Amino acid sequence: MEILRCDNLTLAYGKDVVISELDLSISEGDFLCVVGPNGSGKTTFINGILGLLKPKSGKVILNGFSEKQIGYIPQENLIDDSFPASVFEIVLSGSLNEGHNIYNSEIWERAESVLRTVGIFKLKDKSFGEISGGERQKVLIARALLASKKLLVLDEPSNNLDQKSKKWLYEFLEKLSRNDGMTIIMVTHDLDHGNLIGNKILSLREKDVFFGTTKEFVRKVHNG
Ligand code: ADP
Repeated sequence: MEILRCDNLTLAYGKDVVISELDLSISEGDFLCVVGPNGSGKTTFINGILGLLKPKSGKVILNGFSEKQIGYIPQENLIDDSFPASVFEIVLSGSLNEGHNIYNSEIWERAESVLRTVGIFKLKDKSFGEISGGERQKVLIARALLASKKLLVLDEPSNNLDQKSKKWLYEFLEKLSRNDGMTIIMVTHDLDHGNLIGNKILSLREKDVFFGTTKEFVRKVHNG
């Protein structure tokens, strides 16, 4: 089932066009990696999907859910270390987008369940400032899982993570898409051509934009 489609999508800041006439379609359980050099428009694309930047022309079509129901995982370093909240409170805040009452016991149960899913239930009462970078990333994933059952959007989630946390993260996301049918869009710098993750790629490069399967992308890279 198609989850998201971009039809002839052009995103721009004033007259400066960053993404031009992009067509793209992703389905339930797809794992799309968005790659490209700095300044190529990866964040602009994400902002277009999240509805934070209105298209100059064309459309983003979400099938059966709204932008508010997208689970967004920001770069970890955008959150203030001294933000005075517990892990559980941060996860609970994932339900605010949809206007849920966070003092509702069903939401609490779901929050506990997503903490178990990412394996950090024991950190529930710790303060966000006192846990490691890898653990914080897990908190942000749990928060996004509470916000969304359909689409997760991650912006460079492996920044600042050590090898072990990175490996955990990529395996977790692959399982989530493959086994639970979660659709994932991830911006990444970590493009190892020998070991690509996900099944689809959007590669943004001036005048050489590619969207297709990871296999097609590898073939294209090999054939120059
Ligand atoms: P990436 O995420 O790939 O590094 P961005 O999407 O952040 O790229 O930026 C793409 C282009 O859009 C860059 O040339 C950048 O300078 C420009 N840009 C990004 N945000 C804004 C903005 N708020 N106003 C004007 N130009 C912007």
